[in-house]
Amino acid sequence: MALIVHKYGGTSMGSVERIKNVAQRVAKWHAAGHQMVVVPSAMSGETNRLIGLAKEIQSQPDPRELDMLASTGEQVSVGLLAMALKAVGVPAVSYAGWQVPVRTDNAFTKARIESIDDSRVRADLGAGRVVIITGFQGVDASGNITTLGRGGSDTSAVAVAAALEAEECLIYTDVDGVYTTDPRVVPEARRLARVTFEEMLEMASLGSKVLQIRSVEFAGKYRVKTRVLSSLTPPDIDLATEAASGTLITFEEDEQMEKAVISGIAFNRDEAKITVTNVPDRPGIAYQILGPVAEANIDVDMIIQNASVGGNTDFSFTVHRNEYQKAMAVLNDTVKSRIQAGDIVGDPKIAKVSVVGIGMRSHVGIASLMFRTLSQEGINIQMISTSEIKISVVIEDKYMELAVRALHKAFELDQPAAA
Ligand code: ASP
Ligand code: MG
Repeated sequence: MALIVHKYGGTSMGSVERIKNVAQRVAKWHAAGHQMVVVPSAMSGETNRLIGLAKEIQSQPDPRELDMLASTGEQVSVGLLAMALKAVGVPAVSYAGWQVPVRTDNAFTKARIESIDDSRVRADLGAGRVVIITGFQGVDASGNITTLGRGGSDTSAVAVAAALEAEECLIYTDVDGVYTTDPRVVPEARRLARVTFEEMLEMASLGSKVLQIRSVEFAGKYRVKTRVLSSLTPPDIDLATEAASGTLITFEEDEQMEKAVISGIAFNRDEAKITVTNVPDRPGIAYQILGPVAEANIDVDMIIQNASVGGNTDFSFTVHRNEYQKAMAVLNDTVKSRIQAGDIVGDPKIAKVSVVGIGMRSHVGIASLMFRTLSQEGINIQMISTSEIKISVVIEDKYMELAVRALHKAFELDQPAAA
């Protein structure tokens, strides 16, 4: 018997029929003797619908009132799921975030969880009840309802699992796990049975949008064993089979076995490149270029500056594509004349491709295999950045899929992992 947290996404909660399936699945785990806490999202489409209503009234809805409104989707879900469990004879109780309480800061629409009181939940579990807690929402110190940002139910579930020191947090979703890369780009992509949270963080932040990134940070910080698995299996599937399915997010220290050097290839087309040409190569230049960009609240990702030969150089960096126009305006309006630079050249047609794996820490030659593979495909690398467990390159966006396929093959990610 263990304490287990289940999280169900909007698709799983999408209709009364599906909610009954969730109840059946949870009832199976409860019948096996586990203490069960369930954290559901709003029914699919509901949060969008609510935000849409708000925008019909205010183009920039008041954040406090928006949270009051948007949090109701999850409240519908917990109420219905508790009823569905009771209907099949399982004692259950639902709670909104403020009733637990799930305490957050007061940053409406993107609040952070500060603490979760476990006493009420533990009392219910002790009495044999399944406890159902709203995802996505909490309460601030003044009693206002807050929400955690889109996709926040993942974080709610992992945070609840951390507070209760649950044995495992199972995130049921419409994919059956985390893959070596997007199977729509590489059909040979394989599901990873295990991935460390460090790798998962890199993959999530690089665009593998299986989990809200904050939930992965939470899992890492509080060492919550988290599993991503399919919600599409029949609810009465054998429990042991289900419990071993999907992808387990683990911790590097626990990885006894010889892991593959590279776990996955991540990619996105979310960024744009900006080059400030003919920049005088003297102290303070990077600050004079990027200072105003930061002041405009624009995040910068990759940066490169060449050593200069004749005293002038080019300075390039990437920003999110949504902020590209704004960044160009800042540079043209304030930076260009101040540092007497040449033209400011923008290029939104780029893609970022990364190889990710903790095995890189102990293996050399990863970068050279990556660069060789790209060169064999005739793909020019525009920028490079590295961390301990990741190498990223910026390339022309039309080559993105070719690059991902070639790298996936070169790193033998299509081959079954050694057991
Ligand atoms: N219902 C919220 C959303 O759609 C939270 C979640 O689903 O995780 O963003
Ligand atoms: Mg989600």
